[in-house]
Amino acid sequence: MNTNDPVPNPNINILEYLNKQKGFENKVAVFTSWQIFPAILNVKRSGLPVNSGYTNFDDAKADERLKYLNEIQHKVPEMLGPDERLDFLTYEFSKEYIKQYKPRVLYMGFDETDDLAHDGNYKFYLQSANKEDGFLGELWQYLQTDPQYKDKTTLIITCDHGRGDVPLENWRDHGTDTPHSEQTWFAVIGPDTPPTGVIKSQTTTYHKQLAQTIAQLLGFDFKAAAGHEVGDPVNTVIDK
Ligand SMILES: [Zn+2]
Repeated sequence: MNTNDPVPNPNINILEYLNKQKGFENKVAVFTSWQIFPAILNVKRSGLPVNSGYTNFDDAKADERLKYLNEIQHKVPEMLGPDERLDFLTYEFSKEYIKQYKPRVLYMGFDETDDLAHDGNYKFYLQSANKEDGFLGELWQYLQTDPQYKDKTTLIITCDHGRGDVPLENWRDHGTDTPHSEQTWFAVIGPDTPPTGVIKSQTTTYHKQLAQTIAQLLGFDFKAAAGHEVGDPVNTVIDK
């Protein structure tokens, strides 16, 4: 299967796994711009709260700011189509949710840079990446002012694929026909990840290692429980 159709994912995801662990029950939440995530995270099975696309955040306990976001998200033009919410809304929903509900794990999925690159809209592609950088900076600053999160919280920032570079106009695309677009990156900031300067190791790390890396940071072993292939945590690879 290799389409963007909303097929319920048969695999148990790290978020679904964490949501069932002691102390994490109902403390895992997901906000994404792309409407397909309820299928990716198989909400029917997982029971995860997943707010995606231009769907309202529906909870009787939601505070005024979350209700206001529900209201205004239908007032912006759907510039990326009806299935891709603008990222500032996804970010604001996430931020207000964190402030009110204090989740222990939150997954936030943006969309704009991918869509704008496919459109060849370089100006707004850069601007969107810059705005998203700002969101992450603001989020980190907030986490450092809240005693529940301060010095206890890790942010992992990554992308689901790279983009082409040969020839250069292939920056718009990605996929099996686009060389080098399988190359990705991730960044980690948090109390268990000391800044050690430039990494000199030549080790290649893979996205399939991130699930177990997240589990390990929280003291769990996802690999043993997943029932499907899961990579080793990133640090053990770098330490070799
Ligand atoms: Zn894409």
